[in-house]
Amino acid sequence: MTLTLAFDNSFATLPPRFYARVLPTPVAAPQLIAFNTPLAAELGITPGSTEEMAQVFAGNTIPQGAAPLAQAYAGHQFGGFSPQLGDGRAILLGEVIDRHGHRRDIQLKGSGPTPFSRRGDGRAWLGPVLREYVMSEAMYALGIPTTRALAAVSTGERIQRERGLPGAILTRVASSHLRVGTFQYFAARQDLDGLQTLFEYARTRHYPQAETPLDFLQSVINRQIKLVVQWLSIGFIHGVMNTDNTSISGETIDYGPAAYMDTYHPVTVYSSIDQHGRYAYDNQANVLAWNMAQLATALVPLMPNSDEAIKRFTTAIHGMADQLKSEWIAAFGRKIGLANATAADEALLNALLNTMTQQQADFTNTFRKLATGAAARDQFTDPAAFDSWEPQWRARLATEPDPHRLMCATNPAFIPRNHRVEQMIQAAEAGDYAPFHRLNAVLSRPYDDQPEAEDLTRPPLPSEAVTQTFCG
Ligand code: AMP
Ligand code: MG
Ligand code: MG
Repeated sequence: MTLTLAFDNSFATLPPRFYARVLPTPVAAPQLIAFNTPLAAELGITPGSTEEMAQVFAGNTIPQGAAPLAQAYAGHQFGGFSPQLGDGRAILLGEVIDRHGHRRDIQLKGSGPTPFSRRGDGRAWLGPVLREYVMSEAMYALGIPTTRALAAVSTGERIQRERGLPGAILTRVASSHLRVGTFQYFAARQDLDGLQTLFEYARTRHYPQAETPLDFLQSVINRQIKLVVQWLSIGFIHGVMNTDNTSISGETIDYGPAAYMDTYHPVTVYSSIDQHGRYAYDNQANVLAWNMAQLATALVPLMPNSDEAIKRFTTAIHGMADQLKSEWIAAFGRKIGLANATAADEALLNALLNTMTQQQADFTNTFRKLATGAAARDQFTDPAAFDSWEPQWRARLATEPDPHRLMCATNPAFIPRNHRVEQMIQAAEAGDYAPFHRLNAVLSRPYDDQPEAEDLTRPPLPSEAVTQTFCG
């Protein structure tokens, strides 16, 4: 075997109640769909033959040094607490130390049942696997913290959903798979030793400068605020911000029903299971605060004086609103060319966004056109509404040193539009992976104009519009 991964496993050295050791279930006829060569190089992985990589990334061959396991975690799903979720269809192969000295998890997703599968089959189908591949790599190229996609394989087996579907496995890379729900798992069991061990492990791995649970909480809050504001700034809707899908490292994780808005509207929801809009576009900051309050709650037992802990944690959570607001103003300010926007610019930003809502402007194209100097007014059903906003903006821009450069680096031309992702999946299901590879190539340079890919900037025609996304 020439494929080599230099495993250096740490999670597997934690007490056995943190996970279940389990091997992937072999599949019939694995075929390699994609292998992320630049990411592999970053991870110090030596690629092997296509056949070998198909076997390894399908879970049929366990590479040397791997210590496969399914992690235990709990979580609030749509506000309801499940004391035990865990990796029901994912298996951690192990960790490697990347070129920058950072520890990274290598996990198979869709690799068969585990003791945490409950009624699930432990499998994934081709659609969500390719979707996560494209969306997570696009997120990375946009400059936003995210899990990565190392490989995708088809299994040669069909899996049963509403209809029979082709099976596939994604190899996901993450700074870690520790979640808010991992802390909740031990807190809910009143397993103080486990909680303490987890805290030490997570602190050392992600926030070594954080000495106390309060420092740790604040560090997670800071990273998560940056993340969610970055999502908002590109029109991203995660769709399932359950506490088990909220990472301790501050990376975007779990692309189940994730989607980007085409037409701007703050209450946009795509996920078929989000019936009350809990995870709507503009509720994501509120939900983040709620999720961080759950992390705080799970950390309380680690503090010697719980009254004092609750007081301090509450202050940290209450501080989030102002933090979110100022990060949001800064991020959206950059989108309209303001290097250092302040509260004084909020009205200008809100006026634009309100007009975009009323005039059904495409989120990505409006900002990109503002950036490139093209006619952004064409994006508004009534361009006169934009015309009345523009002079205030131009006046404010007068004191900015290089707004267009800033805006071109902040406002992507390309995002994974839902209808393109959907078309890509349909083609792949019919055996044509060309749209998948094309999307990956174009989305790897989202801030560059790519005239040959102009069609990928177009919003959906009414007949192409995707109104709902599914967890898969
Ligand atoms: P998610 O909604 O993707 O965050 O997943 C929530 C929980 O359901 C996690 O514990 C998953 O491991 C589990 N799960 C999702 N799909 C499956 C499946 N097909 N088989 C087993 N477990 C699953
Ligand atoms: Mg999940
Ligand atoms: Mg999921």
